[in-house]
Amino acid sequence: MLFRVLHKDELSTLFDQLARANTTVGPTESGTDQKGNPIYAFEPVSDFADLRLNYTTTKLPAKRYFLPYQEDLASFRMEGEDWHKNVDYNIYKPCVFFGLHACDINALNKLDKVLMSTVYPMPYYAAKRMNMFIIGIDCQPQPFCFCRSVASDSVTHGFDLFLTDIGDRYFLEVLSATAYNVLKTVKTSEPEEKDHVQYMKVTAERNRKFTAHIDTSDLAKILDMEFQSPVWKEWGDKCLGCGTCANVCPTCYCYGVEETVNVDLRGARKSKTLYSCNVIDFAEVAGGHNFRPERSTRLKYRYYHKHRGFVEAFEESLCVGCGRCGEACLAGITVPEVIASVRGEEQ
Ligand code: SF4
Ligand code: SF4
Repeated sequence: MLFRVLHKDELSTLFDQLARANTTVGPTESGTDQKGNPIYAFEPVSDFADLRLNYTTTKLPAKRYFLPYQEDLASFRMEGEDWHKNVDYNIYKPCVFFGLHACDINALNKLDKVLMSTVYPMPYYAAKRMNMFIIGIDCQPQPFCFCRSVASDSVTHGFDLFLTDIGDRYFLEVLSATAYNVLKTVKTSEPEEKDHVQYMKVTAERNRKFTAHIDTSDLAKILDMEFQSPVWKEWGDKCLGCGTCANVCPTCYCYGVEETVNVDLRGARKSKTLYSCNVIDFAEVAGGHNFRPERSTRLKYRYYHKHRGFVEAFEESLCVGCGRCGEACLAGITVPEVIASVRGEEQ
């Protein structure tokens, strides 16, 4: 990794260079909530003035750009007496993500482990992922962020360039050759000792601001022990089974596949739709049997996938601690509270 410093005035020049030639997605202000606080969303941006780089967490992750809610996998057409299949996942153009927080980059790294695995890679995701140029940016913890508990408050790979605000300049982490070349178009300099000191100072100050946390020590083991705990029924009784938590989660990737035939019976398509394990028919199989008809078993499954199954497979949690699910949940169910109750701690 290389380190550079960039004067803040130069950042718009860097943005313009990238946005001129590529679709560029970044945090924008999409409205205000009932208290008048801004609501942020990842949207395509062509004007640097529309970017809100000091944004707090967006309601939705950037997932829709590389793992859309609905996506066609293949189309079929009858020509003569034969069916012809059309699959094209090389249609994606380069896309710049300008200003992702560390948790959202870590979420991508976790998705890569599943969707770009050598066993069952998903070419549609991989084609988009390979075309991404990612500029990360540091953030200030919100009251619901517990990314530090799951080691997602900082990121060491999965981006091209990472910016940390150190006053009138950004401290840059340069990770890819593309980023190194792009930086030739703007004026950067070698960091001096005072820049290192300032970087460590702002990072330490930020770390002191975290207030939410979960205790992950022995968590996978405790979840195994507490599989029959009555707390799952208590949380399940509160859950509405709406699936919002999976929709807003940057790491939820479960999906269903559907095939539809055109009315002329000469064409068909296969499409994929993201699905939530909290929705009533998630575990329903052909024949009508539902393996998880109760909300409590579905909610429990979601926690076991995130904090037990994924840990066993990859030695890390599938949760990046962004807190979006708790903020969006109409029943007020949050990860820190659920984990604390499973551990028998006061909420
Ligand atoms: S958002 Fe809340 S109520 Fe809806 S499924 Fe998730 S945990 Fe249940
Ligand atoms: S489970 Fe909740 S806190 Fe964890 S990554 Fe998903 S939305 Fe964020």
